[in-house]
Amino acid sequence: MPAFVICGPTAVGKGTIVRELLAAQPNMWLSVSATTRTPREGERDGTDYYFVSPQRFDELIADGDMLEWATVHGVHRYGTPRTAVDEAMAKGKIVILEVDLDGARQIRASMPSAHQIFISPPTFEDLETRLETRGTEGPSERARRLETARVEMAAKDEFDSIVINDDVARATGEILSIMTQIK
Ligand code: 5GP
Repeated sequence: MPAFVICGPTAVGKGTIVRELLAAQPNMWLSVSATTRTPREGERDGTDYYFVSPQRFDELIADGDMLEWATVHGVHRYGTPRTAVDEAMAKGKIVILEVDLDGARQIRASMPSAHQIFISPPTFEDLETRLETRGTEGPSERARRLETARVEMAAKDEFDSIVINDDVARATGEILSIMTQIK
């Protein structure tokens, strides 16, 4: 079973879909990324992310411990710890890597067997509304994220599958069916 990369613009609902996938399939395993950003309200270290200092992040890169890493939205660094992914693959887990476009491109080069899925909003306007409704970022951070989102949307044809998140249950079902076909 290959690993599955899940990529998509900010606020498209990746987090919700991934949670649904994990709930639907007990053998599914989500990589916990390391990040230099600070935790949001309710986020837990080791569950949502490994929250690390910039110095620690430098060390992880220098030691070759990152499968991929990128600076996202021009600010903070995010990366996938390599060992945990290798171990999960060895155990026969269905591995999910939720990464940004840079990360997806790196994985395409270093792990070409991974199946890459892009989650798209029905329309760009829909994304703007979702980001505003979520309310976790201020106006300038929202603008920055929408800028990144435009670049990501323009790259969607690079992906093996494009899934439109018009409805969480439907999109999750489509991804589960893709996973079954790939197996
Ligand atoms: P957030 O700060 O909202 O949790 O995440 C911002 C972005 O970082 C998301 O679009 C997500 O896909 C990306 N991201 C999260 N973890 C990783 C990772 O390990 N590697 C890369 N390249 N991007 C990541």
